[in-house]
Amino acid sequence: ALARVLSPVTLGGLALPHRVVMGSMHLGIEDRDDGGAALAAFYAARAAGGAGLIVTGGSAVSRVGAGGVHYSFVNEAADAPRLARVADAVHAAGGLIALQLFHAGRYAFAASFGVQPVAPSPVPSRFSPDPPRALSGAEVTATIDDFARGAATARRLGFDAVELMGSEGYLLNQFTSAVTNRRDDGWGGDAARRRAFPLAVLAAVRDAAGADFPVLYRMSGADLMDGAPGSDEVLALATALAHAGAAALNVGIGWHESRVPTVQAVVPPGTWAPYPARIRAAVAGAVPVIASNRINRLEQAERLLAAGAADLVSLARPFLADPELVARSRAARPVNVCIGCNQACIDRSLTDEAVSCLVNPAAGHELELLPATAEPAGPGAADAVLAGGGQGRGRDRRRYAVIGAGPAGLAAAHALATAGAHVVLYEAGEEPGGQFRLARLVPGKADYGATIEYYTAELAALGAELRLAHPVGPGDRDELAGCAGIVLASGVVPRPVDLPGVDGPNVLTYPQAFAAADRLGERVVVVGGGGIAVDLAHLLSHGHADGDERARFRAEHGLAEPVGITSGRHVTLLRRGPRIGAGIGRTTRWALLAALRRRGVLLRTGVRYDRITPAGVLLAGDDGPELVPADTVVVAAGQLPADALRPVLAELALPYRVVGGAADGAVDAVTAFAAGAAAGRALH
Ligand code: SF4
Repeated sequence: ALARVLSPVTLGGLALPHRVVMGSMHLGIEDRDDGGAALAAFYAARAAGGAGLIVTGGSAVSRVGAGGVHYSFVNEAADAPRLARVADAVHAAGGLIALQLFHAGRYAFAASFGVQPVAPSPVPSRFSPDPPRALSGAEVTATIDDFARGAATARRLGFDAVELMGSEGYLLNQFTSAVTNRRDDGWGGDAARRRAFPLAVLAAVRDAAGADFPVLYRMSGADLMDGAPGSDEVLALATALAHAGAAALNVGIGWHESRVPTVQAVVPPGTWAPYPARIRAAVAGAVPVIASNRINRLEQAERLLAAGAADLVSLARPFLADPELVARSRAARPVNVCIGCNQACIDRSLTDEAVSCLVNPAAGHELELLPATAEPAGPGAADAVLAGGGQGRGRDRRRYAVIGAGPAGLAAAHALATAGAHVVLYEAGEEPGGQFRLARLVPGKADYGATIEYYTAELAALGAELRLAHPVGPGDRDELAGCAGIVLASGVVPRPVDLPGVDGPNVLTYPQAFAAADRLGERVVVVGGGGIAVDLAHLLSHGHADGDERARFRAEHGLAEPVGITSGRHVTLLRRGPRIGAGIGRTTRWALLAALRRRGVLLRTGVRYDRITPAGVLLAGDDGPELVPADTVVVAAGQLPADALRPVLAELALPYRVVGGAADGAVDAVTAFAAGAAAGRALH
């Protein structure tokens, strides 16, 4: 079923084992003072997992070109050993690796290295607070030289290729757009002169590194900015790059400041296929075209290739979620699918934090997660182990209990089982997944169900025992007492609100509302405005579209003809505080709220509640009470830890840990997965 995507291909003279390129991601560990050990381990794990050609996160060609504080600098001698180590490690693991040559232009931050950003013209961006200054003619030439030296260095350090970062609104892309290139010299003034800089960089790079050294060009299929180049200019650039010797065109979509989401979960997978398809038709076989963005499974890639949209695909975040993406897909084994949440990857990279992955907390920690020692660590090995014991009479030193099969419990059970423990995973409900069971119902979040399936399948393969519909009670005491350790991951319960009328028949908790989403009334008011309330509003207001979700998305963002949409319910979110969805990540919140507003959802903040009535929610106002009418009122006002078993565990005098929502009442999947996995590793 994956015949095309897993078929070999030659790219710029490189023999690739399949058509999946691992796309560039900034990891935030590029400058770590460890001689490149962590960076090399990260990439080597992906190569060992079947990645063919890997493109590194961008290496800045100059200080002013860095996109943040944790960049490597290809042209600085101090960084050479680190970069060489990465290339060596990938080769040793059987992979190929291209260094991405990067210049942020006006997307740089003065705070990073104390220099004002530079750009074709002094046009500020919404992405960086620091307005750029225009490059002089001599500086343009010097920048071309920086790229050329970078390519020669990359070759010398052992890289198999380079990729020029010319999409997503970075410097090369800034030159090709009249929005940011307002020059009137050899580098701007009309479309042909706006193409001059990327073509000069490509020529200089090939000259410096050798015409036999493959140079991939990451180009923008569409900037998704007002005033951006039209399709004719994009295709003219593609054709010119192909004829100038680019080894491949890797097609990105959208600028970081675009108001169209491009990589968030709200973007249906495959949405961007028409853009590489157009480029592929225009270059007519002169150069391979690579499709990217919102492709998170090889099955999707296969369909895309079968439809002729591209010659190869580039997947980036899916390699964070599963380093063995290719090997597992090839062997038809379950894959840990990237859910497009951005929470542990892009959101972190925007704040200069090291990147990891929500569904795979091991990502970015490859060095720390070398296989566990055969000897159990014993009690007290972890500072959060609350009680001693563990070696008493009747204890099975390999047997561990995990209570609760939500994200934290699944991660804990997985870590324990991977380390060779015999795990019994107790789940009170009829299905594993915890809060992910609700999330997967939300439009755009169906892949959250794949996370549950992956962990469940892995646990079964590792011999863990999953006991569903099994609330832990007094009858389990003896069995628990015989374990070597316990993880309590029993999750949360909805926080009740103290409002008159909350017991009325028209009032539901949020789990009840998710379960009965099809049967709620026409007008729904949600008491609460956090992440779960936003998800619920999405589910209720989504309606149905004529055509698939991709067509709907393109239409809603003005990228294609309108499609008929049956409106969903009238939904109002009410929040006492000032900000709806305050805990949602930076790259996702704006896109979600924009979608809600488009669907007519009312987002009200700073409200004061009076009571719930059969007619809706009564708010207290300065001018008297105001009724927000509703057929159904849903309470989504936070959670409390479901940790009733804590005292029982303390009494058993076993090593134990409390993780996820049971620890703090929060619904934070990044922390839940990471803490679950850490607890599992620490206990065994
Ligand atoms: Fe994908 Fe979320 Fe992991 Fe990022 S953190 S790689 S978006 S699952």
